[in-house]
Amino acid sequence: MQKKENCKYIFVVGGVISGVGKGITASSLGLILKNRGLNVTAIKIDPYINVDAGTMNPTEHGEVFVLSDGDETDQDMGNYERFLDIKLTKINYMTTGRVYQTVIEKERNLEYKGKCVEVVPHIPLEVIHRIKEAGRKANADVVIIEIGGTVGEYQNMLFLEAARMLKIEFPKDVIFVMVSYLPTPSKIGEMKTKPTQNAVRTLNASGIQPDFLIARGATSLDQKRKEKIAMFCNILPDRIISAPDVESIYDIPLNFEKEKMSDKLCSVLEASCKRTDEKAWHAWKTFVNHAHNSTEIIKIAMIGKYFETGDFILSDSYLSVIEAIKYSAYSQNKKAQISWVNSEDFEKNPAKLKDLKKFDGIVVPGGFGTRGVEGLISSVRYARENKIPYLGLCYGMQMMVIEYARNVLKLKDANTREVNPKSNNLVIDIMESQKELMKKNLYGGSMRLGGYNAVLRDGTIASKAYAKKEIIERHRHRYEVNPSYIGELEKEGLIFSGTSPDGHLMEIAELSKSKHPFFLGTQFHPEFLAHPLNPHPLFSAFVKACITKRK
Ligand code: GLN
Repeated sequence: MQKKENCKYIFVVGGVISGVGKGITASSLGLILKNRGLNVTAIKIDPYINVDAGTMNPTEHGEVFVLSDGDETDQDMGNYERFLDIKLTKINYMTTGRVYQTVIEKERNLEYKGKCVEVVPHIPLEVIHRIKEAGRKANADVVIIEIGGTVGEYQNMLFLEAARMLKIEFPKDVIFVMVSYLPTPSKIGEMKTKPTQNAVRTLNASGIQPDFLIARGATSLDQKRKEKIAMFCNILPDRIISAPDVESIYDIPLNFEKEKMSDKLCSVLEASCKRTDEKAWHAWKTFVNHAHNSTEIIKIAMIGKYFETGDFILSDSYLSVIEAIKYSAYSQNKKAQISWVNSEDFEKNPAKLKDLKKFDGIVVPGGFGTRGVEGLISSVRYARENKIPYLGLCYGMQMMVIEYARNVLKLKDANTREVNPKSNNLVIDIMESQKELMKKNLYGGSMRLGGYNAVLRDGTIASKAYAKKEIIERHRHRYEVNPSYIGELEKEGLIFSGTSPDGHLMEIAELSKSKHPFFLGTQFHPEFLAHPLNPHPLFSAFVKACITKRK
């Protein structure tokens, strides 16, 4: 396949350690180029065998970010969508499993016309095909491709090989940005460049020379070390960009521009950049200022079943929810302080529920399985009875319905089939379309996934927040509110303020303002559509209720 004329490709690779911020670097490079009038799209490559991220445990992999077409992807895809304000699709995400699957399918369909199909070149060629296709589909001037993992590991070699081959095809249109880590060992007290030098050499062994090096570290890179890296890694000193730790990831595009990064990229790529879009840039700066200057705190409890994983992994698993809360808080000049609360603690010691009193709002995010569910249900009850603003996301809405059925409708054993299929009151039940799939153990990519329409009922909290009648939100679930209980639930005051257009599927549940200041749950995941410059209306309404509660 030919590429779009003048389309440029920027590969982002990582050196020394994982978690150096390749995703945020890729997103930030995209943003500064977008502000120079270029049409940018982004691709994430995950080197694992899984065909998508949907079958992995979030504590293993981090959040599963769902695209509008239903693809279950990596959290970096969320960063791209949020920084660049674009919508990505399946073609923007690939894994080793996905690439091999396509090649094997093509082989079975005789598409290789009798040739021997080999790992090289056929796997890299399929990778290249996908990269070009993503660029073509987005009509992109620039495609940014983040190669997951760290250089030197076995898993991403074929992707580096694809990058090298694309560079041979279009020598002037392909560049490499390496994000590397420079440690400052505490006993030595100075920043060390040797691991980075070795990482660049390893990349060289794949036939690739980085054009830029992003030097991640606890502090800024000094001139002496910059020159050392330049000398030993063959990179011009002004293309070595210092990237010290920052307070907020949203500072990074601004820091890059302090180093005139978009000028440098455009010049190396010979891309026809326009002058910076001042209006867009100003909007970003205003958002970042809000992020820094909003000091007044609202306290939010995120309740779930948590392993002893530590805050880092938790915040990785619920990244989009956290960011969505932050955006809505900043836009109202507040800073959200999020606490992780383990629902199992309430099962062991119900008296602990009283600790929830100190929070201005409670969120129960998406989840699966039985562990911790009783604790979740009792915290929803606590939020309802004590009039603490409550936002339930997917599982969080299902918990809300179960709680209401048990304590208001007095259906004591109300439950979801996911937890107790023997219950006589399955107020949450498996969706009809899921039954066959589960019998056949077809788990991968088979939930109700991606964007679906919902219509809103006039005069409700939801319809006021959205200020429209019809919405599209992203989903990821197998269970639903059991239609046979809707009448009873509504009669007792639970309002289904959003439903699928045919009225069959309950998408939003809420209590009227006269009963509770904010008690609302969604079957979908609004967090996937929250943007820094465009906070999500439901999160904003929730945060507003939290602010009122605090007062
Ligand atoms: N486990 C629930 C279901 O499958 C909720 C899923 C979720 O929270 N994403 O319906």
